[in-house]
Amino acid sequence: MTGAPILEAHHIVKELGEGEGKIVALKDVSLSLYPGEFTLLMGPSGSGKTTLLSILGCILTPTSGSVKLAGESLDGSEPEKLASLRCKHLGFIFQSYNLFPTLNAFDNVQIGLDVRGFSGAERRRRALRALHNVGLDHRLRSYPGTLSGGEKQRVAVARVVASSPSIILADEPTAALDTENGQAIMELLAKIAKNNQCAILAVTHDPRTIPYADRVIEIEDGRILAQKDSGQSERVAADKTSGSENASNSDQRKQQVHA
Ligand code: ADP
Ligand code: MG
Repeated sequence: MTGAPILEAHHIVKELGEGEGKIVALKDVSLSLYPGEFTLLMGPSGSGKTTLLSILGCILTPTSGSVKLAGESLDGSEPEKLASLRCKHLGFIFQSYNLFPTLNAFDNVQIGLDVRGFSGAERRRRALRALHNVGLDHRLRSYPGTLSGGEKQRVAVARVVASSPSIILADEPTAALDTENGQAIMELLAKIAKNNQCAILAVTHDPRTIPYADRVIEIEDGRILAQKDSGQSERVAADKTSGSENASNSDQRKQQVHA
């Protein structure tokens, strides 16, 4: 099945720093993310992965090039507009979990929904469902300090998923975890991409996570070297035969996501 991309980056160049210290962190990077696809971004430290995620996530604006979100160009958008698009479409997962230590698991998930304007009953329903879906029914009242690293990252995943974003950007979500817990998080993200028809881009250094992904993008020194189908992507397989995007399928998927 094919679909229109939810997020597109075209010829992104990003300069960082000033004067002598100025560097070009991204050099003509183009990529698209699709609903339902779990994509890995791999590359050495300093290759521009976090910078790219920040631009895709409307946190940084590119020096040149353009980003399109849900078909709409972000060129020249005001910071308020970018913040509102982030809130509506995007979810972020970090290596360091970023949980509130004084809130239990349930409240850590609920609070993200509060700022998005969901009613109290809807917040509770979504938080319970998201924590159930990451296997944490038994940890609702636990505080981050009493959770394992794997459990903390599951809470962070639940917090993001609860607001039904169309895109999730995960920057080294398994870097602080042991192999087993790291793979479990990647497997969970792969499932979320499929079940919620969400586009997920995750940075990792661990080649053992490749089997969970539909696609692997390799970046080095600010340039994309290769974008490989890891053998599981329906889209890549379909694109090879049809060579075109199918808007009606994409619309059907969007309706499923928001159902
Ligand atoms: P990665 O996430 O792949 O490790 P980054 O995107 O964080 O790489 O960084 C890419 C390059 O940009 C690196 O050389 C880094 O040192 C540089 N860099 C990152 N942030 C800044 C900044 N705020 N000012 C100057 N250089 C930066
Ligand atoms: Mg980084």
